[in-house]
Amino acid sequence: MASTTEEILEPNPLKDDLVQAQPPDEPAPPEISKVSKAAGGARSAWTAARFAFGEMGVVRGTRTLLQLNQKQGVDCPGCAWPEPDGERSHFEFCEEGAKHVADEATRKRVTSEFFAKWSVADLSRQTDLWLNQQGRLTQPVLLREGSNHYEPIGWDEAFRLIAGELNSLSSPDEAIFYTSGRTSNEAAFLYQLFVRQFGTNNLPDCSNMCHESSGTGMKEALGFGKGTVRLEDFELCDAIFIVGQNPGTNHPRMLTTLLEAKRRGCKIVHINPLPEAGSTRFKHPQEFWTWLGAGTQLADLFLQVRINGDVALLKGLMKEVLDAEERRPGEVLVRAFIEQYTTGFADFKTALATVHVGDILEQSGISKSQIEAAARIFLQSERVIFCWAMGLTQHKNAVANIQEIANLMMLRGQLGKPGAGLCPVRGHSNVQGDRTMGIWEQPTTQFLDSLEKQFKFSPPRRHGLDTVHAIQAMHKGEAKVFFAMGGNFLSATPDTEYTAAALRRCRLTVQVSTKLNRAHLITGGQALILPCLGRTEIDLQAGGPQFVTTENSMAVVETSEGKLPPASEQLLSEPAIVGRLAKATFGTRSSVDWDALIGNYDLIREAIEQVVPDFENYNQRVRQPGGFYLPNPIRERQFKTDDGKAHFTVHPLPKIDLQPGEFLMMTMRSHDQFNTTIYGLDDRYRGIHNGRRVVFLNADDIGAAGFAAGQLVDLISRYDGQERVARHFRVVSYSIPRRCAATYFPEANVLVPVNYFADKSHTPASKSVVISIRKADSNTDDTEED
Ligand code: SF4
Repeated sequence: MASTTEEILEPNPLKDDLVQAQPPDEPAPPEISKVSKAAGGARSAWTAARFAFGEMGVVRGTRTLLQLNQKQGVDCPGCAWPEPDGERSHFEFCEEGAKHVADEATRKRVTSEFFAKWSVADLSRQTDLWLNQQGRLTQPVLLREGSNHYEPIGWDEAFRLIAGELNSLSSPDEAIFYTSGRTSNEAAFLYQLFVRQFGTNNLPDCSNMCHESSGTGMKEALGFGKGTVRLEDFELCDAIFIVGQNPGTNHPRMLTTLLEAKRRGCKIVHINPLPEAGSTRFKHPQEFWTWLGAGTQLADLFLQVRINGDVALLKGLMKEVLDAEERRPGEVLVRAFIEQYTTGFADFKTALATVHVGDILEQSGISKSQIEAAARIFLQSERVIFCWAMGLTQHKNAVANIQEIANLMMLRGQLGKPGAGLCPVRGHSNVQGDRTMGIWEQPTTQFLDSLEKQFKFSPPRRHGLDTVHAIQAMHKGEAKVFFAMGGNFLSATPDTEYTAAALRRCRLTVQVSTKLNRAHLITGGQALILPCLGRTEIDLQAGGPQFVTTENSMAVVETSEGKLPPASEQLLSEPAIVGRLAKATFGTRSSVDWDALIGNYDLIREAIEQVVPDFENYNQRVRQPGGFYLPNPIRERQFKTDDGKAHFTVHPLPKIDLQPGEFLMMTMRSHDQFNTTIYGLDDRYRGIHNGRRVVFLNADDIGAAGFAAGQLVDLISRYDGQERVARHFRVVSYSIPRRCAATYFPEANVLVPVNYFADKSHTPASKSVVISIRKADSNTDDTEED
């Protein structure tokens, strides 16, 4: 018989019974309105202004927004979509970007009185939205063993406490050092230096949970793991395919790029289980003369693929390409590219011939005529860009998803030429830069050799733990100290109750944060919150005001310099936190002059220049307005695989058999949300208001299951003999393929098994979880009572 996750955890009366790892139930059902036909417009401009001025005030808000994404201004802490190389508008941000900076630059403060008043248990019964709305953290606080209240602690004492715990471990590998994508290049480089000098490569990061599958798939097939296009390529391409991505909510300024491409005649194909407002129609918020119209239709073709039907669909497209070549030999495949730059084409072609069209249609849920229509656009386009996001990367077969895109593009030589290429769109502002700086549990030998030479110590050579394996190590008691540089680890990770149990088994958990979140409430024996400066704030060190640098999705490295006074005099910058912790931990044992590095970030960048390839003259080049591009070998048709060729790869059709009553569930974000940060309870493009615990289902499935829209249900996932339950979700009738379900994270993360992740990349498979749905085991269902 299946056991529940609650049953397998060892109870801890104080922490388990009183402190909730999951957000509380919602008091009332959400309101459902019509789905938006277009993204952007007046509503977007108004919402941006309301958030910005509400949190920051009009003068401060205006000044801050005018700095956002400007050359030598403040880099938006939101997504990693790039800014134009040339002239930039005064309003180089989107509604979401305005929310991000308003959230960080809010005037609200969390003080020691707040923590005296609120116990950890009481805080855990508040919503994630409420926690975030309390304001900026202002001083370091400690949760002592057995206490239920955080209390103030001085910085020196906090560093001594962490250092004492780290130095008492029997192995450095008993510590985990997590990084979120907000961390700057300078902080990330210093952090990995500290961690490796401490003696471990346990450096999991948020990339493990998002685009790891993209990097793994591209590196294996093409020899390089980053996107190959620049913004200028969007000015040249004839077709853009957007797969498993919702730019309207998650990368809104990409809509401006799509709009410009569309206006010059480029075709756009959107492939996604849900139609999304931004990909259907867009009204540019700054083109107020368009606000009253219907907006510009962006997608020429929308393919409503079943969840995880992408490999099937891509194989369908590739079959169309090969069939066209049969009909017109020598006119369709770009033989010169295939012969000169690739290997494995014959095996790939043979394997594809064995795939049955019937299976493709069934698994993708897309008709033959629609596949043919997409293939026509692909074949009629001289230059094609493929964009994707989490819809492709969070499946068991996610690496195969990425490599099938590479296969398709190689058939037509769509790599390494202007206006064409691959574009994994990253969701956090410096997640790509952090990896470039060495935040990786599997560092290359070359990187470690350079680190050793520059800093005169022997870095550990054994690989460390990624996110899911770090959680498992903490759960087994093999890791005892958890340190998070930013983020909300508990809510970002899968299997909420399991992860909570893992964190609770640590001796010490430490979070470097700007605002309160649920990860501060699910703690080890002792817990520290270390408040840090935000991107928008002045970073004053011994050498004067400092700027930091970040790398966006298209490998542009640019400066970011905060202009606002810090939220509190007690905040430290992330580099300062790392440097002072290193000094406390190592004493005289370190070969690094930490004080010098944190006093002047130019010195950190000089060290980066010596260790990380392609950063020559870093300080000089990054001071040029707009920064500089890192090289991308694929753009030059250099494939840095073992044999110097791009590899065609062969993948089976991934088949997930659903039993009667089962659905394939994907988690996703709402429009009032950035990663785990909840800004509001509305998802206005999808017509959801004042609620988040909803499950989107096809109307026919709702009827067939005997449910009704608005009904309260429980969601259950069973995996490896364990049952996980997410309680009290409302059924929403939505345009989604049959037998598919969609929910918001982090609410539904409890259903994602920690040991269910992508082959090779280990990215949690949050977008293809098999669930069943039952009427809620509660007598509080007002729908039923009505
Ligand atoms: S598109 Fe992304 S980076 Fe740009 S302003 Fe919006 S959230 Fe920020």
